[in-house]
Amino acid sequence: MATTSESVTTTCGHCERDIPASNIDLHYAHCSRNLQKCSFCGDMVPRKHIDEHYDESHTPQVNCSLCNETVERESWPLHKGEKCSQRIVTCQYCEFPLPSVDLFKHQEICGNRTEYCHVCNKYVRLREQIEHEIQFHGNSNDTAVSSRDRRISEQEERAPGRQDRDPSPKRLLFTIAITGIAVLIGSFLFQRRVDNNQPHSF
Ligand SMILES: [Zn+2]
Ligand SMILES: [Zn+2]
Ligand SMILES: [Zn+2]
Ligand SMILES: [Zn+2]
Ligand SMILES: [Zn+2]
Repeated sequence: MATTSESVTTTCGHCERDIPASNIDLHYAHCSRNLQKCSFCGDMVPRKHIDEHYDESHTPQVNCSLCNETVERESWPLHKGEKCSQRIVTCQYCEFPLPSVDLFKHQEICGNRTEYCHVCNKYVRLREQIEHEIQFHGNSNDTAVSSRDRRISEQEERAPGRQDRDPSPKRLLFTIAITGIAVLIGSFLFQRRVDNNQPHSF
C-alpha cells in the first residue's frame, strides 16, 4: 500500500528539501539529528563538520595552499596576486616562470647576461638594455624606466622581434656579396609565409 505514495513528496521542515512522503519521518529524524543549516551560507552541513565548514568557507582568514600562510580574507586577492612568495611569476629577461621568492635572485643572474648591440658593436647587459636604448639610440618614448610594468611589457614587445632582427644585417651583407642569394631568401620567406598562412595551398 506504500507503493503509490512513493512519488508524493513532502518538504522537510529542517532542510527544506523535497523528500518522498513515505520516507519523511525517517528522513526528518535523521536530518534534524545530524544536519545543521549553516547560518552564513544556508548550506546543510553535517553537525560534526560544521566547524570545519565554517573554517573553510566563512572564517575571516584564508589559508594559502601555495605558501601555507594564513591571510586575512579581505587581503586574499592581494596576497594571491602580488604578495604570495610562492606565486608563479615570469622573469622579465627570459620569461621563465618561477616562484616569486626566487625571482630576485634569478633576475640578478639573468639580467647580467649580455646581448650584442649591432649598432654600437658591443655587448649590453639585459638589465641595462632599456637605459642603453634610451641613452644611445634615442628611444626616449619610454621615460618611465622605473616602472616595472613598463619594463615587462617593453621586454615582451622586444622578445619576439629579437630573433628576426638579429640575423638581418648579416643576411643583408650576404645579399650584397652574392646577389643571387636574394632570390633564395625571397623564396624562403615566401615559402615560410605560405607555410604559416596556407598550409594546404597546393
Ligand atoms: Zn531534511
Ligand atoms: Zn556555510
Ligand atoms: Zn601564499
Ligand atoms: Zn630569466
Ligand atoms: Zn647600442
